[in-house]
Amino acid sequence: MANILVIEDNPANMKLAVAILTGAGHAVHEAVDALAGIDHVKAQPPDLILMDVQLPGVDGLTATRALKADPATRDIPVIAVTAFAMRGDAEKILAAGCDGYLAKPVRYRELLDCVEAVLAAQAQRRASTKDN
Ligand code: MN
Repeated sequence: MANILVIEDNPANMKLAVAILTGAGHAVHEAVDALAGIDHVKAQPPDLILMDVQLPGVDGLTATRALKADPATRDIPVIAVTAFAMRGDAEKILAAGCDGYLAKPVRYRELLDCVEAVLAAQAQRRASTKDN
């Protein structure tokens, strides 16, 4: 079980992500734009962030860059969710510091597999940091 913050402006997409994640036993928090999301991260750091790329105002990649530039939040894994499957998007998403990405529409198994993989990688990073 992980604390997951979903930053998503589209109510239907939010509802779907929350249903999938809570159904898998995760505790889910919601933010409808990047600034509300960043405020939430600082007040109550989640284990993982599901970040919509297309947000009104500050977009998801700009928000991710801000979180990854801050030592207090940079270790929190971010999975980007994007509607555009354009060439070059994956590179842009990873360059912004995202730990994984999914294309919309988000599918049940794909979302949960990605969450598990990113959390496992995070746990491994933490363990190896402790050993060194
Ligand atoms: Mn959006």
